[in-house]
Amino acid sequence: MQLRANEIRARAAASLRDEKLQRGLGMIRLKAVVNRARAVAEFGEFEALREAGRAIRDRALADLDLWLERFEREATARGAVVHWAETAAEACRIVVDLARRNGIAAVAKSKSMVSEEIGLNDALAEAGIEPVETDLGEYILQINDAEPPSHIVMPVIHKTADDIADLFQAKHGTPRKTDPAALTLEARQILRPRFLSAGMGVSGANFIVAETGSTLIVTNEGNGRLCTTLPRIHVALTGIEKVVPTLEDATTLLRLLPRSATGQAITNYVSVHTGPKEEGESDGPREFHIVLVDNGRSRLLAGELREILRCIRCGACMNHCPVYQAVGGHAYGWVYPGPMGNVLTPSYVGLENAVYLPDAATLCNQCGVVCPVKIPLPDLMRKLREEAVARRLKPFSERAALALWAWLARRPALYGLGARLAARALRRLGGERRLIRRLPLAPGWSGGRDFPAPEGRTFRELYKSSQR
Ligand code: SF4
Repeated sequence: MQLRANEIRARAAASLRDEKLQRGLGMIRLKAVVNRARAVAEFGEFEALREAGRAIRDRALADLDLWLERFEREATARGAVVHWAETAAEACRIVVDLARRNGIAAVAKSKSMVSEEIGLNDALAEAGIEPVETDLGEYILQINDAEPPSHIVMPVIHKTADDIADLFQAKHGTPRKTDPAALTLEARQILRPRFLSAGMGVSGANFIVAETGSTLIVTNEGNGRLCTTLPRIHVALTGIEKVVPTLEDATTLLRLLPRSATGQAITNYVSVHTGPKEEGESDGPREFHIVLVDNGRSRLLAGELREILRCIRCGACMNHCPVYQAVGGHAYGWVYPGPMGNVLTPSYVGLENAVYLPDAATLCNQCGVVCPVKIPLPDLMRKLREEAVARRLKPFSERAALALWAWLARRPALYGLGARLAARALRRLGGERRLIRRLPLAPGWSGGRDFPAPEGRTFRELYKSSQR
């Protein structure tokens, strides 16, 4: 996926003008937020569960190398082959080489954010191997000229049923249908033979379990099971941070994940894969490969932002973020949107290539409040903002304005005088309507709406008069 994170301001402005997108984003507020709140209330002791989730993830990260080695030993003992990929390119090379060695022409894929992160579809296509997305949302995006997902859990949240009806009619050459069930059936009829003919299935992994060497995926569509059991070869792609010590740890996190993501107590399918098919077993792949992807995670582990590695990719932070709710996922310009993306993207692609992302937040801490593993997202975004300032990554005008503000803030008398003059000037600018059409020096603040003019006196003046 092409990196366009530094275009967030222009892309966000375009998203705000997109009425269809705005209607789609309204569904997040209506569904995901309300459903999570209901699921949390029904569970009761959710805070204690969040604390347990945080502790499990911290325990895994504290000895990540040891848990990963244990995972490799257990998985290998059960017949799986574990590959280590330091970079995205290396991970792609491992999968492409496997496909080539086995004469694979088409790969059936279930949903995997890591495969988006490493650009697996492009790598497969360049090698002449057809990647076939089988998650309904990802399939829709793939046939729509490989459009990127706009949400990590609901990849087509930005599309309406009408959009999909038009797309299916154009791409499948079938009569137009608008009933979601009929559209799903149409996709299913096209995809079913692809599972049967694909020589390789690629999945992600929500967790990998050190004590059993298993990978675990949660899905709401049956495609995950078909991808991982029907093809001759199953490849599970996962970030190294996804390891948890025990199966019991994984089940604790499973109580948090769907409730936080979609408000479900549990997803339709929970699949645990341990080794390939054994003698006498009827289902499962003959070969099972697990690709453990680093791609910047070790660097994160050693730095100030390591808490982001606790992330279990539930999407709750973006569902509750006022910025994501207004602009949607495409505005963020890479694989991971919302508050978690504001931290992950600069960490993976370099802050200089995503310098405005940590600013795409009000720091209201809604994300921190709902995060099931208690990641202090606003603190991490603030650290990245500090780094951007320290490395002088922002334009000169922005740095100069902040330096001037800091200089004034250290001189209270001068600051007070400046504030009084500004309050009066803005009052005059607001006129009779008390609204400012275009704010001087900061027109972005009034680009989408009129700016309310202040009363004409500073807060301190108002406070003093109220005391009297
Ligand atoms: S940062 Fe927290 S809320 Fe956001 S996706 Fe990750 S686990 Fe979920």
